[in-house]
Amino acid sequence: MTGIQTNIFIASFKHETNTYSAVPTPVSRFHVEGRLLTGAEAIAYFAGTDSVVGGMLDTVTGNGATVTLPIAANGWPSGYVHDNAFETIAGLICDALQGARWDGILLDLHGAMVTESYADGEAELLRRIRDIAPSVPLGLALDMHANVSPEMVGAVDVLCGYQTYPHLDERETGVRTARLLLATIEGTISPALAWGAVPMLPHVMAQSSYDEPNHSLQNRCVELAGVDALDCSLFTGFPHADVPNAGLSAVVMTDANPCRAAMRRDELLEEAWAQRKAFEFSVEPLADSVRRAKTLANSGSVSGPIFLLDHYDNAASGGSMAEIAVLAELIRQGLRNVVFFALWAPEAVAVAHRAGLGQRVTISLASPSSMSSEMLEFEGEVAHLSDGLVKATHSDHTGLLLELGDSALLKGDGIDLVLVSLPMEPSDMACFELFGVDPRERQFVVLKSRVHWRAAFESMVGAVIPCAGVGACTSDYSELEFTSVRRPIFPLERDAKFTPVLLEKNFSGAAL
Ligand SMILES: [Zn+2]
Repeated sequence: MTGIQTNIFIASFKHETNTYSAVPTPVSRFHVEGRLLTGAEAIAYFAGTDSVVGGMLDTVTGNGATVTLPIAANGWPSGYVHDNAFETIAGLICDALQGARWDGILLDLHGAMVTESYADGEAELLRRIRDIAPSVPLGLALDMHANVSPEMVGAVDVLCGYQTYPHLDERETGVRTARLLLATIEGTISPALAWGAVPMLPHVMAQSSYDEPNHSLQNRCVELAGVDALDCSLFTGFPHADVPNAGLSAVVMTDANPCRAAMRRDELLEEAWAQRKAFEFSVEPLADSVRRAKTLANSGSVSGPIFLLDHYDNAASGGSMAEIAVLAELIRQGLRNVVFFALWAPEAVAVAHRAGLGQRVTISLASPSSMSSEMLEFEGEVAHLSDGLVKATHSDHTGLLLELGDSALLKGDGIDLVLVSLPMEPSDMACFELFGVDPRERQFVVLKSRVHWRAAFESMVGAVIPCAGVGACTSDYSELEFTSVRRPIFPLERDAKFTPVLLEKNFSGAAL
């Protein structure tokens, strides 16, 4: 890379939209410490971190290129992105693109954004960007849970996705995308893309790359990229976005060899389709799961805490974090030596802060969902108070700020309950250290998490028991009304046929 004149535009706008979630998505959902991160402040925040933007920034500046980064906005998963939020952030990106000469564009998007007006938020953003910069080489990094559409693929020249879930390779994905874009600009490669989607909705609880079948599928992507392709990504998709393009897809990039790219893509899609039943998840009644956990603990046969996953209400999949079905069942069955992370309950946090450390308080909790009428009173001692600000140290977001908002730990009768004011999936030990809790010392650790928790806690697990509570990321598809996703699709139609949607394109951007 000759470097100095190369002018690269980077922007990040990420949201995984759960169309069943009642949690609103105003522009404040994308705030860090109360504001959008823009320009030099965003660069200073992300440079050197384990994030896609961190990987992009460090790669591009390491090659001597100049960088403009108008905004880096990453909102916690929730309901439809408000039009005002989309227009504000997309406007910052498009305004910054106007009137300058760019050698390349790098985008860090999620791939499952749905707005009040656009079923495919990323496609709309890319359409606007291409209106301004129709022929500037463009590299796009996407989450493994992206519901990739042909419109997204048609707008980009380089496309890379995460290859791990939990997402431990976000920085590496940024690096891969940036290196391939820089090589494209330099003319040392000419990427040919082959993408395809098959009609299947892999269950999120069955998507971990620690487990089969995704472990082997992602490994295959890595192998292909080392031998037969420039890069290769398999997107497991996000089924809680009821949109036409929800589901599994794959992309293979080769150096000017569209036939090989298409052949490898077809192999990947056929393998994923063959494994579709292994991507299913079966639900156990909540009371049975909690009883099983209690029996297991009493048996003395496990060493290490039993992790109970309140996974229907995971903040990182659009859950409110305010559901109390699992907490209520733990109380009913009398489990003790429990730490529960966490309930979103700003009013209860305020009660604890007003009372002060060492005081006993009683908080009233009620399910926000129309699916539940659960209510309970929880009494405990205020054992810890915090402003909820801590840096991630142990998992997949090292260096980034974790914001729990004002928060508190209530020590109840056998259950230590963490209360927060901002959503936070517990995927880092710092979440517990903030409250002076060592989860290794507990018999039961309850997490509002699906898979990301494994990044930090896998090594200390005695046993794992998913708990079917209540929430917008329910694992029971029969509780969801699918009205927009393409049909037939497996497993909603168990006899769905292998009918891939395919797209190939060369670097010229023209469809083949
Ligand atoms: Zn994801």
